[in-house]
Amino acid sequence: MKPLRPGNASHYRGRFAPSPSGLLHFGSLIAALASYLDAKHNNGQWLLRIEDIDPPRERAGASSEILNTLEGYGLHWDENVLYQSQQSEIYRQVLAELTEQKLSYYCRCTRAQIKAQGGIYQGQCKNLTHPASNSATRVSNTVGISRYNDLIQGQVNCSPELAHEDFIVVRKDGLFAYQLAVVVDDIYQGITHVIRGCDLLEPTARQLSFYQILQCNAPKFGHFPLAVSKPGFKLSKQNSAPEIDKKNPIPSLFSALVFLGQQPPDDLLTANVDELLTWAINHWSMAQVPKAQEIVL
Ligand code: GLU
Repeated sequence: MKPLRPGNASHYRGRFAPSPSGLLHFGSLIAALASYLDAKHNNGQWLLRIEDIDPPRERAGASSEILNTLEGYGLHWDENVLYQSQQSEIYRQVLAELTEQKLSYYCRCTRAQIKAQGGIYQGQCKNLTHPASNSATRVSNTVGISRYNDLIQGQVNCSPELAHEDFIVVRKDGLFAYQLAVVVDDIYQGITHVIRGCDLLEPTARQLSFYQILQCNAPKFGHFPLAVSKPGFKLSKQNSAPEIDKKNPIPSLFSALVFLGQQPPDDLLTANVDELLTWAINHWSMAQVPKAQEIVL
């Protein structure tokens, strides 16, 4: 793939990639903190990417509030913030390359049709090479990775049917799909380590396939448990999880460290943000992060 440099950075580059569909809640703080601590403990860089490729789901003002909150929590990022809304040209170049290599095609199937086939798309549109109105674009998933080694969860096995599915790279509404944007940008930013929540365990298998299709090196992945309000219910911006307290970061940072199995000493509750983060960077241990896929708060 010409437009992308294969990810071969020799030093650690991690990232936090929030979508501006809402403000930071406790679940997103865990994602920010875990990725930050792993990067800084390894003397790496920690980049910030705002995943604003879905304007209908965006909340006005959320991007700048996220940046302000991270600053207030002492989580200072390296380099400039990357906005996915400014990456369209590179996504288009990657798509053009896929099309040239006959690795993508249009698809008119509706959600209802796919649901009626058991929820996995079966490849009916493979020969549809001209855009029809209301069509999505899929990538020919010639790789189909269903198993990988996760830095936290160990070996992860995903459904082979799902792993082989030709997934969507451009949605019917013309917006670039998450799977395309996230992989292209992780390559573009030279990311070597992706530390994020277990809600993305299965998408990771697809993303690993996509790296191979693009002939680029994949980063290492580690997935920490998801914070849930009850089993199966993740805290999310969509279900209006409360925003973390911007003015009083210590209690949330302390609770996030406990959640991540880091056993912070009680005297950090009266420390300032820099002292708490310095302790957390020095003592960060991925081995202590619980291997569960979700934890009820
Ligand atoms: N933007 C995604 C989210 O906010 C995260 C994607 C990722 O970490 O790969 O859930």
